[in-house]
Amino acid sequence: MGLPVARRRDSLKIVKPVPHEAPQAVRAPEAPRKPVHLFPIAPASRAFYRRFYPGTGPSEWNDWRWQMRSRIRSLDDLERVFALSPEEREAVARHTGPLPVGITPYYASLMGRANPGEALRRTHVMTPDEYLLTPGEADDPLGEDHDTVVPGLVHRYPDRVLFLVTGTCSTYCRYCTRSRMVGNPGGEYEFSTRQWEKALAYLEEHTEVRDVLLSGGDPLTLGDDKLDWLLGRLRAIRHIEFLRIGTKMPVVTPQRVTKALTRILKKHHPLWMSIHFTHPAELTAETQEAVARLADAGIPLGSQTVLLKGINDDAAVMKSLMHGLLRNRVKPYYLYMCDPIRGSAHFRTPVEKGLEIISALRGHTTGYATPIFCIDAPGGGGKIQLAPDPVMGRDGDFLLLRNFEGNIYRYPDPQGTLGR
Ligand code: SF4
Repeated sequence: MGLPVARRRDSLKIVKPVPHEAPQAVRAPEAPRKPVHLFPIAPASRAFYRRFYPGTGPSEWNDWRWQMRSRIRSLDDLERVFALSPEEREAVARHTGPLPVGITPYYASLMGRANPGEALRRTHVMTPDEYLLTPGEADDPLGEDHDTVVPGLVHRYPDRVLFLVTGTCSTYCRYCTRSRMVGNPGGEYEFSTRQWEKALAYLEEHTEVRDVLLSGGDPLTLGDDKLDWLLGRLRAIRHIEFLRIGTKMPVVTPQRVTKALTRILKKHHPLWMSIHFTHPAELTAETQEAVARLADAGIPLGSQTVLLKGINDDAAVMKSLMHGLLRNRVKPYYLYMCDPIRGSAHFRTPVEKGLEIISALRGHTTGYATPIFCIDAPGGGGKIQLAPDPVMGRDGDFLLLRNFEGNIYRYPDPQGTLGR
């Protein structure tokens, strides 16, 4: 290619420099700037931290360790953000022991500050109902302590174990199955590296274990190095085929899902993740970014949701959550009845409510959007699945089945006895 006509030596035309162009010899073109804050911040969250955490900027807000350090932990912290009802105030003031108040600033920014009945606030701010003990409730309703083979390791099912690796969560859900142990440093559950070593020794010996679920507490509250070390030790056990992590961090502290974390998780495939979602209001831009990063790292994502009275016990709310999860590459996996921990009656619906919700989903929307509805049997019986029964009876060689619209269909089943 020749020079532009206007710059040829033989041209008599004088080209004036364009005033705003810097001469190239004086200043080299600037390298494109990297965006400093890659995590999105919703306008409501930005307004929240400007008001309640003055002096905080996007880099602190997007730092998961800042979120952990800045958690709402006391009555004073709550009063600073929420207009507490007298009942909430009384309940928080009475509290001692495990399952303390704990809410990250990010998750608090999603909650109703004036309305004690708002769904997410109800799951995290105490009420006096927590102090009412009703029949059938227990500290350890699932009998996990009974099936604990070494501290922190629950071996109930033949080929898989539950490995409780920490007692810390970034937020404390008032209906937590492990309310007896979480958020209680110095309690009987130690969660130290020494304890992990005992669990690892057990797993090395038990060749029947092919699947390890890491839970707690929330394993993603561990620092990158610790988590990497632990996952590496587990992957090094030849008979362990795959690992799972149960976590709520992408929902309550999505900033935890850094690029560095996804690089670590990717090293330990096959690794699956079950994320604890409760309500469609949790599907913010931040959480969507977190789950996109996890999905892009090749981690199969499932959700676990607890059915909670007055919070998500509504077919439209549940459908909205399940659809939102699918849009974000999270498979709705389990819908649990709330476990009968102490003081949980106000969270529990009748079992029929769960069946009603499943009936409203199954057939009415994408099959992937329908989770497995189950009860974790009190006393250590494990998960028991529940589903609306479609078998209406039998007419001779035909099985009578009801479809999602309530219509009856006949299926030839001459050898069968079902429905007799
Ligand atoms: S995040 Fe999970 S372990 Fe932690 S308090 Fe909530 S339900 Fe319990």
